[in-house]
Amino acid sequence: MEEFAVVIIGAGPAGGQCARRLAQKGVRVLLVEQHSNFSQNNYSSAASPLETMALFDLPPGVVARYWRNLAIAASESEQTWHSDQPQGVVFDFAKLRQFLADAVTEAESQVWLGHRFSSYQQGESGLEVTLSCRDPLGTGSSEKVTVKAQVLIDATGSKRAVINYGQPKVTDNGQYYRGIGTEYLITVDEATHKRFTDTLVFFLGYRWSPQGYSWIFPMDNGQLKVGTAIFAGKHRHLGKLKPIRSYTEAIIKDYLKLEKPQYHLVEIHGSVLDYAVNQGDTYHRGSVLAIGDAVSTVNFLGGEGIRHGMQGANIAVPFVLGYLRGDQQAFGKYEQAMKSHFAEPWQRTEKLSQRVYLEFGDRQIDLGVTYLSYFRYEDVLDLLFHYRFDRIYGGITPLLLKKVAQFSQQCRQWLRNLRRFFPV
Ligand SMILES: Cc1cc2nc3c(=O)[nH]c(=O)nc-3n(C[C@H](O)[C@H](O)[C@H](O)COP(=O)(O)OP(=O)(O)OC[C@H]3O[C@@H](n4cnc5c(N)ncnc54)[C@H](O)[C@@H]3O)c2cc1C
Repeated sequence: MEEFAVVIIGAGPAGGQCARRLAQKGVRVLLVEQHSNFSQNNYSSAASPLETMALFDLPPGVVARYWRNLAIAASESEQTWHSDQPQGVVFDFAKLRQFLADAVTEAESQVWLGHRFSSYQQGESGLEVTLSCRDPLGTGSSEKVTVKAQVLIDATGSKRAVINYGQPKVTDNGQYYRGIGTEYLITVDEATHKRFTDTLVFFLGYRWSPQGYSWIFPMDNGQLKVGTAIFAGKHRHLGKLKPIRSYTEAIIKDYLKLEKPQYHLVEIHGSVLDYAVNQGDTYHRGSVLAIGDAVSTVNFLGGEGIRHGMQGANIAVPFVLGYLRGDQQAFGKYEQAMKSHFAEPWQRTEKLSQRVYLEFGDRQIDLGVTYLSYFRYEDVLDLLFHYRFDRIYGGITPLLLKKVAQFSQQCRQWLRNLRRFFPV
């Protein structure tokens, strides 16, 4: 039986980053992924602020496009903020995960693609982890292989396949918020691509994206990603929703003004995210630890999870090293460290996401987007990517000043009119 210090199941951004870091520190790691290549589950829209590149020392090769501008469109209003400098990236999600996996093999650890986690059990000297290798000889059969590990890490995203192995099904107990995202990758004409090549566009409100949000993100090769995320649950004002694809298709038709064959549909992909209310996930169980979306690192307000999943992986690394050195309390400390990093902003944003996506009326959303026009670009970015809600109150000052100026202008006009009718 082959032996590893750490086996990580799931080569998403969290699993890949954790494996890369541990391998670079000389730990013998096995990174396991059920798909046989990274283009098979290329599901993420993968937009991120620019800081992600430096934070995780990522090369330009994993970027599909850099974005400079940001637009938010609601039913009646639209605001755009411009910059002449890049403010963020849209990753090529397949290349990002391939890069992380390559870094693991370069550091002399192993990556097994096309292997699916089946089960684990406590053996005499560590965990015995059984994987099924799909169709190794192309005969339609699958083969089982068992490896030994001191630590087993669940990086299977919101499936939580390892940490919940042998436990009751997680999504049945009402402790999770669910988001369902579907995205179209389309090839468009040169003029349309040029219009969106440097811009992230988000859509809110009943016209475009009731009970969630939609987006247009630029990709390379004349392509755009157009997608919609819907938040599961009963909306206070809305009835039954249309199929999720119809919102994305309406954006292509009514916003991009494209009808087939003016665009080419390359693929449709998507995924479901189950996010634990109040960070109520299981972070560890014996020698098993969970990272990334398996412990709800995705931010539920904007659905941004790549940067946070990788950040959570970085937080885990010293505690995994501590555990391997014999610190039995290390995983409890990991949970504390994760909660002190994520709990406060995440609990604030999860409450806000429920209000925005399941309670707000369309007029409220429009007013909110109009109100954002009084913000400086850096404040909007701080709000969207750093959840700095104090910026909202800072934005009130220019709004109030503008309202006072408008009111005093109106008063002066009334006085002028009065004088005209009643000259002294
Ligand atoms: C439609 C959509 C758009 C999104 N857009 C953005 C965005 O623009 N920006 C952003 O930052 N985030 C975005 N996200 C969220 C982001 O993609 C996730 O939060 C992030 O990928 C989570 O990383 P992870 O490594 O924890 O899990 P994942 O990326 O889900 O990786 C888990 C991996 O585990 C593998 N796996 C699962 N089960 C098994 C098993 N039994 N055996 C072996 N392998 C297994 C899976 O195949 C997968 O590769 C989006 C999500 C969706 C659904």
